[in-house]
Amino acid sequence: AGSEEADEAVRGTCEDASICKRFAVSIGYWKDPYIQYFVRQAKERKAPEINRGYYARVHGVSQLLKAFLKKTECNCQIINLGAGMDTMFWRLKDENLLPKKYFEVDFSMIVARKIYNIKSKPPLSKPIMESHSGESFLIDAHSLDSSRYSILAADLRDSSELEEKLKKFNMDTQLPTLLIAECVLVYMTPQQSASLLKWAANTFQAAMVINYEQVNMADRFGQIMIENMQRRQCSLAGVEACKSLESQRERLLLNGWETANAIDMMKVYSYLPQADVKRIEGLEFLDEKELLEQLMQHYCICWATKDGCNLGLSNITF
Ligand code: SAM
Repeated sequence: AGSEEADEAVRGTCEDASICKRFAVSIGYWKDPYIQYFVRQAKERKAPEINRGYYARVHGVSQLLKAFLKKTECNCQIINLGAGMDTMFWRLKDENLLPKKYFEVDFSMIVARKIYNIKSKPPLSKPIMESHSGESFLIDAHSLDSSRYSILAADLRDSSELEEKLKKFNMDTQLPTLLIAECVLVYMTPQQSASLLKWAANTFQAAMVINYEQVNMADRFGQIMIENMQRRQCSLAGVEACKSLESQRERLLLNGWETANAIDMMKVYSYLPQADVKRIEGLEFLDEKELLEQLMQHYCICWATKDGCNLGLSNITF
């Protein structure tokens, strides 16, 4: 594990991500009625290229996730690694797309904050209660376990602790499983993220992983991004693994995954339906197209599959 100061800075990134998401939602980029219950409104406007970047990120992850739900007909589980204040569980419930079980994992301090919000805000707690059946509802300061939703505290750098805790909450290794790591792996060393990815590939019979994070960090723009993070005391320990799309793919293939894809966010943006592009580009004026492009070339979505049940997971794409 890293130092306590470094971990604290990493935990701070969770708030940043959700504040940016809430801001983009408030402008109309996408709908998320739940994010407001987890973080405050941003103090100042976020730049249009940041908002567009978040749009592509949220849209890209959700598109792959929905393709997985479709392939498995929701007969699956989802494990969101380093979930922070993510609201996907609530949005899927509204769309009638809940998997058999949705797990969230984060540091205990973040989990405690999330549970506090859930407990004190009926729009968050009601959907969990509604989707719950049976008796074994558990809630304390650092974990919540219901039949469809669980949140638990674990350090992702320790796979055996992670597995033990997930199993206690009825994780089923025989069920097709989607793991999501949205802006999480980059905070671990390459060895730590590799061992997490390897654990996932070895634990489930049929699985897919979605990883969103920085890429192409070896160039000048990447160096500036790293310096910005360092100024906030946040070290991107995993940046070595984010050299290129090829190194992203390679990491997945070397750690037990059968198929692996990696595309930068400019590509994701170019796959957006024309109507969506038109709508979001109409929301805010952006004159620095070049900055947007540079930013988008420095983030990527990677996904990998392992298909022990012949569900056709390897066909999932944009
Ligand atoms: N995935 C969320 C999102 O995209 O909105 C949050 C992203 S935030 C940038 C990174 C999250 O990963 C934080 O909530 C942080 O606490 C969590 N995290 C990072 N390293 C972790 C570790 N070793 N164990 C558990 N959680 C970790």
